[in-house]
Amino acid sequence: MEASSGTAEEAPVERTRIGTPVDGENVLASLSPSRASDFRTCPLLYRLRTIDRLPEEPSPDALRGTVVHKVLEELFDLPAAERTPERAADMVQDAWQFVLDAEPDVAEMFVAGDSEAGPEITGWLASCRESLRAYFALEDPRRLEPAERELYVETLLDSKLLLRGFVDRIDVAPDGAIRVVDYKTGRSPGVGFEGKALFQMRFYALVIWRTRGVVPALLRLVYLGDGQMVSYEPDERDLLATERLVEAIWHAIERAKASGEWLPSPGWACAWCSFQAHCPTFGNEPPPLPDLTAARRDAVAPTGPPTSGP
Ligand code: SF4
Repeated sequence: MEASSGTAEEAPVERTRIGTPVDGENVLASLSPSRASDFRTCPLLYRLRTIDRLPEEPSPDALRGTVVHKVLEELFDLPAAERTPERAADMVQDAWQFVLDAEPDVAEMFVAGDSEAGPEITGWLASCRESLRAYFALEDPRRLEPAERELYVETLLDSKLLLRGFVDRIDVAPDGAIRVVDYKTGRSPGVGFEGKALFQMRFYALVIWRTRGVVPALLRLVYLGDGQMVSYEPDERDLLATERLVEAIWHAIERAKASGEWLPSPGWACAWCSFQAHCPTFGNEPPPLPDLTAARRDAVAPTGPPTSGP
């Protein structure tokens, strides 16, 4: 912890999975907070993304999330005194190169000059630096020594449901109190929508409680789009309720798999959905359902990183 005292999903890049091994365990299914949220938002969205695995183009907003997360992760490799806004701004170019090396095709979404074909790269890189400037208005990284960054976490519930995900940052105070931090490059949720945003954090808190035996003292979402923070102090009752909710989502997914009914649920997410061309809401048809046996085997195998939320 401190020494003294419309949201885009991050585009997926390869991350290291270091966590509780479940090899040899009888895992029935696995769920990340992103995929659980997909199903809660729209069962058809979940199906097309997780079972059909239709390709999705990353958006400039999602790529910004990836670059900014990369800088914020590596910023803490520097000596504390060097974690300045200027140094973070200088790190953007290398973080962008890291993304390009992993996914060279993403360069095609940018244009060299003013054009309606896509954003111009110089302006887009400036927007990454703008997000980082907003970060420094909220936290002083010179006064922080995170215990973990970009940490893969997982736990197997008694029901044999594997919960897994990547946590942006974990701070541990001298008294052992744990703070879980997640960065968002989008704007903070409106009044009444904080609970939905905190679902991901409660999910991580549940996994940490189950693996470390300690309920995190604080969950914090850092919104760089409008310079706001949302904080929440969970307790055991909250996390037990989260466990019941996650298992209810899992059972609902299993029922949809058994019935083959993946109903569209039109709402705010449609505006950003990659699957409008396969959705009845937009007058289109989903593709035939793939072989669920193979999809189930892939969904259970705890290999490779799930896409996160930024
Ligand atoms: S367009 Fe809307 S209703 Fe259709 S799959 Fe996407 S989120 Fe669901």
